[in-house]
Amino acid sequence: MKNVLLLGATGSIGESVLSVIKQNSGELNLIGISCNKNTDKAREIIAEFKSVSYVHVENPIKYKDFCTKRDYDWRGDCTNTSSELEHLINHESIDIIVCAISGFAGMKATYMAAYSGKKILLANKESIVAGGDLILPIARKNNTQIIPIDSEHNAIFQCLNGEKGTEDVKKVIITASGGPFLNSSISDLENVTVKQALNHPNWKMGSKITIDSATLVNKCLELIEAKYLFDLNESFFDLVIHPQSIIHSIVTYIDGSSICQMSSPDMRVPIAHALSDANRLPIDFDPLDFTSLNLSFQAFPSDKIEIENIAREVCNKGSNLGAVFNAANEVAVESFLNNEINFDKIYEVIYRTFDANDVSNDLSIDSINDIDTHTRIEAKKVVKSLIN
Ligand code: NDP
Ligand code: MG
Repeated sequence: MKNVLLLGATGSIGESVLSVIKQNSGELNLIGISCNKNTDKAREIIAEFKSVSYVHVENPIKYKDFCTKRDYDWRGDCTNTSSELEHLINHESIDIIVCAISGFAGMKATYMAAYSGKKILLANKESIVAGGDLILPIARKNNTQIIPIDSEHNAIFQCLNGEKGTEDVKKVIITASGGPFLNSSISDLENVTVKQALNHPNWKMGSKITIDSATLVNKCLELIEAKYLFDLNESFFDLVIHPQSIIHSIVTYIDGSSICQMSSPDMRVPIAHALSDANRLPIDFDPLDFTSLNLSFQAFPSDKIEIENIAREVCNKGSNLGAVFNAANEVAVESFLNNEINFDKIYEVIYRTFDANDVSNDLSIDSINDIDTHTRIEAKKVVKSLIN
């Protein structure tokens, strides 16, 4: 039996993780969860999973409300501070830590988990994009195993299974659905609504990653994530549009063999793989009907090449540059979701903020937090200039 701490339990990935745990209750035991503001959902989770002994609530007001008013039948530990979170992550009873907080907000937890020497299931790609050069060496030094649950990275991980490292890899193709605006150019998207942008054809996800999928910035974040997780130069990776989201990535070896991983678009599939040990875990899944599959592929759109080039620059230069790209994007997405800027301006906010970056080689959690704070201020200035 493995004890699981699920950080970001109230989100979309959190829900998929809970479903896999529920279906494998003989192997997996949910022992702790975290949330930010959605304490109603946290209450539902602890009502359903009686094994939960720890609840970390990040938002201080919601924490007070949740922990001081114990109007529900639960006698576990409730925490809020960073040192309590660190203590929880390192608690001896926990075997597996799922990092499923959305955005840079997940950085603190991923950074702490990297020291734990435990098994991390990583969904929070932003923490690797912003702090890959810091987090990966810490994880290696502390024997912390990072298993990706982002579907493309989990696919690559599975394709590499049984191989002796990445020595024989020639190419890795990261697939992208293309999102709701497949075949539209940036100039066609000025007037799309938030509702249209949130209407992803294949995946049901949190709002931030859904907008990232619509802009294709998600694929650029994933390129950086892949570079760090598999320790391969960016030139190994190609981004390819595959609208059906059935093939989640492809690894081509030096002998000409290409191996891919396929499934219906359902995050429970990579999560079940990552939560398993030696054997695969059974889940209730939508089987593929191979006789009716119609798979197609197309080149990554040429008008998104500028954003892809930024991601490649981040891969090549590393250090704190990923934190700049990530923060600029987070501000741009938030501004779009708040109806402050048009969809096509998301790119402009990123380009202008990224161009003005001033990055140091100081690699510490404090410097990454500083870069994040500073970049957000700069990106907000760009947003303001677009509003006026
Ligand atoms: P959601 O928006 O659905 O959920 C986000 C989770 O993070 C919630 O539990 C939320 O808590 C918590 N959270 C938000 N802000 C904070 C904060 N400041 N401190 C602590 N916790 C916080 O996101 P997703 O589940 O869609 O995505 C989670 C991560 O997984 C992202 O990094 C995303 O890129 C990645 N990912 C997601 C996929 C998907 O299918 N959804 C696929 C691949 C990767 P609360 O609800 O209580 O406010
Ligand atoms: Mg993905």
